[in-house]
Amino acid sequence: MDLKEHIRAVPDFPKPGILFYDISTLLMHAEAWQETVRRLTDEVAPYKPDMLVGIESRGFLTAAPLALEMGIGFFMVRKKGKLPGETLEYSYGLEYGSDTIEMQADAVTPGQRVIVLDDLLATGGTMDASIQLLRRAGAEVAAAACIIELTFLEGRSKVDVPVHTLVSYD
Ligand code: AMP
Repeated sequence: MDLKEHIRAVPDFPKPGILFYDISTLLMHAEAWQETVRRLTDEVAPYKPDMLVGIESRGFLTAAPLALEMGIGFFMVRKKGKLPGETLEYSYGLEYGSDTIEMQADAVTPGQRVIVLDDLLATGGTMDASIQLLRRAGAEVAAAACIIELTFLEGRSKVDVPVHTLVSYD
């Protein structure tokens, strides 16, 4: 099955000049979504992770069914201010300004192996920041995985763990 047939490309969203790859159409197609989850599971299972991590917000959609399929736990990396209880945070630079992400402090125990998931790898900034945060919490980040990769942005070069993706655009 060609997953690209189920990914919608929307020009000029959320601003002019951006071609947005929309996984809504992939989620709406049961067989295509099942195939996506199966293929991602094949990519990440060999690492034998203890937990999966989803990056807000389409990373949640990607990681949660995988965790169920693999029979392991899942937790969220979110934008600052969304998670209750004690949290750990990490701030990183954007083209203009900065952003802060958080995770719950008790989500991992030191040395646990995790794999981070998102829907799409663009510049790699979001994935790199999430990995740094997870390391701050003592996690061992075994790999990163996304459904889509925009290869022309070379996001992989910013991420210092193996990166697995299912479809790429250049
Ligand atoms: P980056 O930090 O540049 O790798 O951006 C990755 C994050 O932004 C992911 O959470 C994506 O969901 C989102 N993103 C960036 N570019 C696009 C795009 N062209 N289409 C859809 N989502 C995107």
